[in-house]
This record gives sequence, structure tokens and C-alpha cells, in this order.
Amino acid sequence: MADEKKIKLKRLESSKVLGKFMADYYYELDGAAKSGEKKIAWCTSVGPAEILRAMGFLVYFPETHSAMLGSSRMATDLIPKANAIGYSPNICSYLTADVGAYLEGVSPLANIFKGIEGPPKPDVLVFNTNQCRDVQDWFKFYGKEYNVPVLGVHSYVGVEEVTDDYLLSIKKQMESLVPGLEEVAGTKFDMDRFKETVATSRECSELWKKVLDCAAAKPSPLTFFDGTTLMGAAVVGRGTEKANECYRALLKELEDRIAAGEGAIDNERLRIYWDGMPVWGRLSSHAKLFAGLHTSVLASTYCNSWIFSALDPDDPFTSMARAYTELFIVRGDHYKEEYISKMLDFFKVDGIVYHDAMTCPNNSNCRYGLPQRMEKLTGIPSLTINGDLNDLRLISDEQTKTNVEAFIEQLEENR
Ligand code: SF4
Repeated sequence: MADEKKIKLKRLESSKVLGKFMADYYYELDGAAKSGEKKIAWCTSVGPAEILRAMGFLVYFPETHSAMLGSSRMATDLIPKANAIGYSPNICSYLTADVGAYLEGVSPLANIFKGIEGPPKPDVLVFNTNQCRDVQDWFKFYGKEYNVPVLGVHSYVGVEEVTDDYLLSIKKQMESLVPGLEEVAGTKFDMDRFKETVATSRECSELWKKVLDCAAAKPSPLTFFDGTTLMGAAVVGRGTEKANECYRALLKELEDRIAAGEGAIDNERLRIYWDGMPVWGRLSSHAKLFAGLHTSVLASTYCNSWIFSALDPDDPFTSMARAYTELFIVRGDHYKEEYISKMLDFFKVDGIVYHDAMTCPNNSNCRYGLPQRMEKLTGIPSLTINGDLNDLRLISDEQTKTNVEAFIEQLEENR
């Protein structure tokens, strides 16, 4: 067994381009918050960012801040601060870590970006409950704190078929955001600008999909662990040309790796599909754990969640309604089984790891027999690891390591 401490992870050169993109993004937000020159909208990660951007808002995504709280391992100590004001330790640890950070007046942004003290103050908050109800409570907390409007789209859950009735309802809700946003922005909604933003966002989505699809190559030039940080531009920058530039550079590097037969890990022997959230505070150690076992965790439901293939500038509102309702997290189990089956096939996967994240039932798909049904359907074995996205008290590193090693051994025997 390789010593994880000795394993060096390969870094993609274009990750520097992504890093610069993120720095520019946060400095622009911070500058606007300080000067008041541009209005700032907070938006959920799969919320209606295109409408906000088209109306001239700079868009900030609190979930990305929470992921940074997780990866910087600040989250675990902050969660109890939110618990103390009534947010249960059992609800979303993105919410509790972020609210805890606000209450304590700390932020990883201050540690990473010189001169930035924390998140930019919002002028308006806009959520979509397509991912969960927690985002609504989370945004309402800040709406009260900052005394600014909170607008929202209330989506369906467990959707098997995306019907016209669903789309009409979501489209109407998206359209009805506009008057409230015009009031905050002090400008009129411009349909042409909206169509342009949707077109740019669609291009981002296509580029991001091409990036992720590169992992179908053998050996895979990309891992899930790389993807969780590389996806930053798709989350916070979709609808901007700068995000698209990042993905063109990344795609070129991945295509070069494929042409050279270079894998993201040395001597790839096994290929794994990851379902569920990453454990942000363990990204590097999990990447090393699998790399040391010559196993590439190369595709995931999570990173694919920022592919919005339905976006269509010729029908922007309806296509946005479709794009944000067709998402995996919104769908019923039958759809999810078919989706994962296709992914396993496309990425030529040997096994699945399900992350049962204690505080995010919405992104934990292993709780109602799906792994067993998937194994029956595809014959591909799986392992469920218990943990959390942000709360490291809910993780047993030893148990994870032992279970992963035993699982990989089993897959090796099946080869
Ligand atoms: S989907 Fe999960 S992690 Fe994301 S905001 Fe909702 S509960 Fe939190």
C-alpha cells in the first residue's frame, strides 16, 4: 500500500487560470461592495444567475463561500455558533458554517485575498429551492440581517418527467422576479441583454461538459477531486465570457493530456464514479488515498450539476426553467437510476462510491435503496461512505480509509 504522504498530486497548469479567475471575481465583488458602484445580488448555486447578470448585478454565491469554509477546515468550529442561535446541527452544514462565520466575523476570503475582509454586502438575495429548502432559510437569515429583499423561485422535487405544467410554473416565477429586481437595480430589464447572457451561459455549460467528458479517456486526464475546484468558474461565472475563456484553456490542456496518454494519476488501474458531495476538508487526503490505490475517481453527479444543456437564447425564460428543473438533484429515483447507468457506461466505471453526507440528504442518493437497485441493474459494485461536506466531526478518517481499501481490493479481485 502506497504511503499517502509520499503521493504527489498532479496539478493542471490551467488551474492557475481558474485561480486568477476566482481572485478577479472576488476582488471585483469587493470593490463594488466598497464603492457602491454596482449592485450585488446573492444567488443560490443553481439559481437564476442569468437573469441577475443580465440586469447588471454582480452575483455572489454563498455556497462557494461555505465550500471554502469547508476546505480551509474553518467550518467545524463555526457550526456550533449557528447552532447556538437555533439552527440545528442536523441541517445543512453549508448554512450553519456560513452563518457561524458571519456571527464570528471571519471568512476564508480574508485569509486568501489580501484586502478583502469577507463576503460582499448584498442588495438583494435570490434563491431557487430546486436543490433544497435550506437555501430559503439561509437567505432569509441574511435578508433580515442586511435588511434587503429576498426573492425566490419555489421548485418541484422528485420530478420524474419534466412536464409543460412544471415549466410554465417555474417560468412564471422567474418572470415575476423581474419587477422586484428592477426596483433594486434601478434599471429596466433588457431582453436582448438577457438573451446574450443565456447564450454565454450555455457556452459555459457546453465547455464545462466537454471538460468533464474528457474523463472518459483511458487513462482519465482529470479526477473528481480536480473537478470540484475547477468547477468554480461554472458556478460563479456562468454567463460571463471570462469563465468561458478559462474552460477553453482547460479543455486544451486536457486534450493534450489525452493525446499524450497522460493520466491524472499514475498507473490507473480502476475507475470510480462518485455520487454525492465532496468532503471539502478532506479533498486532498481523499485524492491521495485513491491515487495511492491506482484508482481514478473520475466522474461524479456533483460536478455535472453545472451542465445546463437546455439553455436556449431564443427562448430564455422557458429554457432556463427547463435547465434548472432538469437537474439531477430535482429528479425522481427512476430518472436518477437511468442517469447514473448512462454515466457508468460512458465513463467505463468499475465501481461507485456514494457519499452519505449527514447534513445534506438532498445530495445523498444512497438512503432509499438506490445503490442496491443500481448494482442489480448494472452489476457494478458500490461502497457507501458516511461523512459530511463540512462538519468534520461527522467523519471517521480511519473507517473511510479501511472501507475504501477493502472496496478497491474487492474490485481488483473482480477484474
Ligand atoms: S443541497 Fe445540501 S449542501 Fe446544498 S444548500 Fe442544500 S442542504 Fe446545503
